[in-house]
Amino acid sequence: MTWPASTRVFRCDHCGAVEVVTRAFCVECGGRDPIEHLVPSVGVCLARTAVTGSDHTTSVLILVQLDDGPVVMGRGCHGLVAGDRVGADETRWWSAVS
Ligand SMILES: [Zn+2]
Repeated sequence: MTWPASTRVFRCDHCGAVEVVTRAFCVECGGRDPIEHLVPSVGVCLARTAVTGSDHTTSVLILVQLDDGPVVMGRGCHGLVAGDRVGADETRWWSAVS
């Protein structure tokens, strides 16, 4: 298993803006065809919430600001809190890193 996993992002060659959503143009400067890159799935947990499903199991959803800029959502360990440094494995499971 490779760790950390990679996240697909799109970087504008004109202004350097980075997004996780593919577009034909950059939303910051209007530059054409942002280029796909893979960046490490490592960053800081911005927020967390717990969601209980109909089967009464609880999942933790987190927002992560990647070190490369974009914010992504993922599933994570129960003990995570905002401010934790986190990384994802190939299953897209986020856990704390030191
Ligand atoms: Zn741009």
